[in-house]
Amino acid sequence: MPTYEYRCEACEKTFEQFQSITAKPVKTCPGCGGPVQRLLGTGSAIIFKGPGFYATDYGTSKRS
Ligand SMILES: [Zn+2]
Repeated sequence: MPTYEYRCEACEKTFEQFQSITAKPVKTCPGCGGPVQRLLGTGSAIIFKGPGFYATDYGTSKRS
């Protein structure tokens, strides 16, 4: 079962949540009720860094 990490945008509290991959993501901070953002940690192998990330990385990869 993956662990999702969240950060509250209101109070900047971070917390981890064990969830089934089919479970609904946490959307509110358990502390203050503010909006939370899911961080990409151990629970996900997918990293989004913008639409140009892969093309840029490919073009600048080092070649010996
Ligand atoms: Zn909060």
